[in-house]
Amino acid sequence: MQSIAPESVFRGSNAWEKALPQVTNLTRSPLILGRSINTINLRNKIFNDLKNQNLEVNTANLQFDCCYEDISRIKNIILKNNSDSVIAAGGGKVLDSGKYIAECLNIPCITVPLSASTCAGWTALSNIYTKNGQFLKDVALGSCPKILVYDHEFIQKAPSRTLASGIADALAKWYESSITSSKIDDGLVQQAIQISRVLRDQLLIDGEKAFNSQFKNNPSWRNTVEACGLTAGLVGGIGGEKCRTAAAHAIHNAITQIITPNKFLHGEIVGVGLLLQLRLEEMKNNNKLADQSIKQLFKLMKELNLPTTIAQLGINVFENNNLEKIADFTCQDNSDIHFLPFEIHKQDIVEVVTHFEQQKIKI
Ligand SMILES: [Zn+2]
Repeated sequence: MQSIAPESVFRGSNAWEKALPQVTNLTRSPLILGRSINTINLRNKIFNDLKNQNLEVNTANLQFDCCYEDISRIKNIILKNNSDSVIAAGGGKVLDSGKYIAECLNIPCITVPLSASTCAGWTALSNIYTKNGQFLKDVALGSCPKILVYDHEFIQKAPSRTLASGIADALAKWYESSITSSKIDDGLVQQAIQISRVLRDQLLIDGEKAFNSQFKNNPSWRNTVEACGLTAGLVGGIGGEKCRTAAAHAIHNAITQIITPNKFLHGEIVGVGLLLQLRLEEMKNNNKLADQSIKQLFKLMKELNLPTTIAQLGINVFENNNLEKIADFTCQDNSDIHFLPFEIHKQDIVEVVTHFEQQKIKI
C-alpha cells in the first residue's frame, strides 16, 4: 500500500478559513501541537477559531525536537485530555512529531505548515532525532495526513531563511532520485523523478525572486512555496520508498551527529550535502556534468544566503575527529549513501570533504 497524498489539501490565501468546516467535522477535541515562540500568534488564531466552533481545544509544545522524549510526553497529554486528533502547526519537526504521535494513537493528523521549509506537511514519513537534534532514523507511516492546510498568509509570516532552506531541500529531490532510481523499471517512479526535475527548474527560475520578495505575495513566491511544501511531497508520495534519497541526506544525517551551539535548519544542511554529493559524483564516478551543477547551485545558494561549506554550519571538520565522525556515520551499513550506483568507502568521504572544505568555488 502506497500513501500518495493527504486526503484533502487546502491551499492559497485563507486556506485555513476554507478548511475550518472540514476540520470541525473531523474532530471535536483536537490537540494543537507547536514549538516556536515566533509562531505563537498563528497558533493562538488557530486555537481561537476552533474554540469559536465550540470545540474542546488543548495545546502542547515540543520542548526539544522530533524525539522520543517529546513524543511520549505529548502522547500522555493527549491520552489525559482525551483528544481525538492532532493539529500539527509549525515547521518540519512539529509536523513530523504530530504525524508520528497521531499514528501511534490511531487518531487523525491535520498538518498546518507555518513555513515553506519542508514538505513534511504532505508526506507519510517522520524523521526521528535525539533531543539534541542528532538524526536517529526515518519512520514510514501508514498514511499521509488526513488534511493538509497550506495557508499562504501563514507561510508569508515565516522568516526568509526558512524559504531558502525549503528550496535547498526540494532541489535535492532531483539530484538524489535521478541518480539512485533512474534504472528502476516502474512508471510511477520514473514519473516522480521527472516531476522532481520540473520542480528543480521551477526553483532555478523563481527561487531567488521568491526569496527577495518573501513578504510580497507574487507568482514567483507562490510557485516557490508550493514547490517546496506541496510538489516536493507529491514526488515522495508517487515515488514511494523506491524514489530514494542518497548522499545529500546521508551527509545531512552525519553532520547532525556533531552538536553545535547554533542550530541549522534541515534544508540548510542538506544543501551542503548536495554540493558534496555532486563532488563525489565527479571524483568517484567521473561525472563531467557534476561540476557545472555545483557552479549553478552554488550561485543560487549564495543568492539565498545559504551555507555552502560544513565550516559555515559551525563545524570545523579538521578538529575533534569531526571528519572521521562524519565519514563513519555517512558510511554506516544502513546509510542511504549506499543507494548511489557506485561504491563509497569512508576514505572517499574523508578525501572529498577535505578537498571540498579547502576549495574556493569560482562561478
Ligand atoms: Zn529533506
